[in-house]
This record gives sequence, structure tokens and C-alpha cells, in this order.
Amino acid sequence: MSHARPDTSASQIEQAAALLAQGRLVAIPTETVYGLAGDARNPDAVRAIFALKGRPADHPLIVHIGTVAEIAAWAARVPPAAMELASAFWPGPLTLVLPAAPDVPRVVTGGLDTVALRMPAHPLALALLRRLGRGLAAPSANRYGRVSPTCARHVREEFGEGVAMVVDGGACTIGIESTIVDLSAGTARILRPGAITPEQIERCLHAAVERQPAPGTRSPGLKASHYCPRARVVCTAPDQAAATAAHWLARGHRVCVLSPAACDQMHAGLVWLRVSDDASTLARQLYAKLRQADDLQADVIVAALPAAAGIGAAVRDRLRRAAGGGEEFRA
Ligand code: AMP
Ligand code: MG
Repeated sequence: MSHARPDTSASQIEQAAALLAQGRLVAIPTETVYGLAGDARNPDAVRAIFALKGRPADHPLIVHIGTVAEIAAWAARVPPAAMELASAFWPGPLTLVLPAAPDVPRVVTGGLDTVALRMPAHPLALALLRRLGRGLAAPSANRYGRVSPTCARHVREEFGEGVAMVVDGGACTIGIESTIVDLSAGTARILRPGAITPEQIERCLHAAVERQPAPGTRSPGLKASHYCPRARVVCTAPDQAAATAAHWLARGHRVCVLSPAACDQMHAGLVWLRVSDDASTLARQLYAKLRQADDLQADVIVAALPAAAGIGAAVRDRLRRAAGGGEEFRA
């Protein structure tokens, strides 16, 4: 884990807190991905987040809080399951969707009567939230639909001077977005897979959770196309990666392969980026590898899908959405 040294952290937190209190936007590290943070109770700051990201106004933002007690300030009703999950997994990569309190600005919730809450585990994010004592809306610090940033440099490449400050907290330790659980309507329902698995949630609640969003659920992370690099992404079974790469190379494309296997072919148009065969490590590497493939001017990224166990299911979800929701390609 590489986090900024404590001495530099304290001054970063003070500076970030001052900017956020003025309604400015600050990129912050979390353990999942970097967030583009603004005061969630300041409608102008929230609108500025939507504008900078180019995100449609009806796509709700997650409100980040620094203490469990703050749930009461945002939720109209706090079901027992929310307290059980918050006690078990906060601070951590789990977002809870709850009925919104009447005074929650509807610009944050994209007009919905529910609000998404999370307490992040990154020490700088937590320290900043507790220093401010206010909720921060903080969607991933990338332009709408593109690859989430997992280090401070990615944010600067994405937004340049568009963001008042980037708090540098090192590389994200989880690397993909939080698990989202909807508790606003009876049974718990997973809206987005992440590092906290359905099995962990079921063990905590002693109850079954729905693994899929209800048909028609409005939640932008559910869009078939999301997390997209510039290059076209093609997902394959691990043993099909080489053949799939050959297929695209034969058509004259520059191909970048992301696979845990060793490269067994040479081609001027081929870059083979080895990734971990451990799903947690792959999650941590994933977005940086997609950005690297873009930097290498790949036309096509051939990505070997990991097994669906544990966080592997969430990695598969992100890769499929990066591929635009298309089916697995078989050469
Ligand atoms: P991002 O912060 O860009 O990773 O996106 C936030 C995710 O949280 C999106 O997938 C949203 O749909 C989801 N989200 C935020 N608020 C709500 C809500 N009130 N109901 C359902 N999903 C939400
Ligand atoms: Mg995002």
C-alpha cells in the first residue's frame, strides 16, 4: 500500500478542506478509485461535478461520509440491514442505497428519492471527511463513460487544471468501484458488483440478496457501455486470448493483450501486457492497464476474463462494460 507520507497528508487535507468549503472541486483518493469530490449539500458544487465529468444530470452521485452517525442526516429511514452492513464493511468498498431525507438536494440523487452512501477506507479520504464533517459527492474522477482513475496522475491526465486540487494518496488498493447494495425497497439487491461479494453480504444479513438490479432500475453504472478506453475492448476466455489477438492482427489492427499467460507469438502490431492471475491483484491493475493500452495506441484490447469467484465477478462486469456490453468473442 503506498499512501502519501503523514506530514504531506496533513497539509493536503487542510488545503482540500478549504477549497471544498468554498464550493470548489477536489480529486480525492479512495481505496476503490479516485473521486471528483464536491460538497454534497452545495448544489453549485454538485452541478460543477456533472459539468466537468460530462455526466448526464439524471445519473445520481454517491455521497461519501466520515462516520456511521451521518447516515441519519441523509436517509429518511435507516433499515436494520443498513446498520448491519455499515458495521461490518465500513469504512470500505460498499455503497448503500437508502430512501433520501427530504432535504437532500435532488441534484445529488439525479432526481431520485433515494440516496447512495459510502464511508471510504482510504486514510486521507476519511481524515478529510471527518475534518469537514460534511458529505462529499464523489463520482469517479474521469470523463463520463471512460476508465476510472486509480492514481493521482490519471486524474491530472483526465482533467488537467479543471480540478482545483488533486490530493495524492498513492495508488488505489482495491482498484475498481464499490459494490452497490440497494436497501430502499425491502429485499437487499446488488446494483453493481465490487470487492464486497454477494456471499459476504448474505453472511452478514443472514438473508438472501438479489444478485441483479430489478428490470428498469435507473443506475448509470449499470449501463451496458461504461469504463471504456479509446481502444475497442474484446473479452475472451483465457485460452482464447492468443487466437483472438491473431484474428485482429490479421486484419491489420494494433492489438494489446491483457492476459495472465505468457506471450507465445511475435508480431509487430502486438503488445502483450501480462496481468496477475489473482483477481484482487488484477482488479488493482485493471484500469491502469487499459490506460496503458490506450497510451500504446492499441486499436483493440483483447482482455482475458478472470474466473467469476470473489472480486473476479466484478472485474468481469467492468471488462464486459468496457467492451460495450458485447458478447465474448471466440476466434
Ligand atoms: P460512480 O460514482 O461514477 O461510480 O457512479 C455512482 C454509482 O452509484 C452509479 O452506478 C449510480 O447509479 C449509483 N447510484 C448513486 N446513487 C444512486 C441511487 N440513489 N440509486 C441507485 N444507484 C445510485
Ligand atoms: Mg464512474
